[in-house]
Amino acid sequence: MAMSTLEDLLEEQLKDLYNAEGQLTKALPKMAKKATNESLKEAFTSHLDETRGHIERLDKIGKVLGIKKMTGKVCKAMQGLIEEGKEVLEEDGADAVIDAALIAAAQRVEHYEIAAYGSARAMAEELGEDKVAQILQETLDEEGECDKKLTEICEGEILAAASASGQEEED
Ligand code: FE
Ligand code: FE
Repeated sequence: MAMSTLEDLLEEQLKDLYNAEGQLTKALPKMAKKATNESLKEAFTSHLDETRGHIERLDKIGKVLGIKKMTGKVCKAMQGLIEEGKEVLEEDGADAVIDAALIAAAQRVEHYEIAAYGSARAMAEELGEDKVAQILQETLDEEGECDKKLTEICEGEILAAASASGQEEED
């Protein structure tokens, strides 16, 4: 696709995100299933719902900007992040340690999304697409909240349990 204008670039970025979010809707159920901690399971499941909402928002943005179709681009970064996360899904180990690994993988994904939505929102603002910028900000806020929630669960419950499971093995 030609990229001679900022409009072209924004369109490309949005399609990349659209594909990334789609990939995520397939990965999150597996992560929820693998998680043992109930708060973590719940966080993955509720973010799956939010992620479906992110796709709907991108569809809405596509309509506002007159983009014919949002599909057609593959987000290679998300493919890589999910590929790496798959290693955790295939791993056996102490429940809390696996949960900590799932969070580490999930937070990589959230930070990627936060970066991508932040860039896209700035482009939309520059183009005077205030409605689009506002919709992108709504998703950006949810990605940020998800990241914060994962940190809370990790530091509040999981890391201590993960550390304790190592102690038990030593005894
Ligand atoms: Fe998302
Ligand atoms: Fe997300």
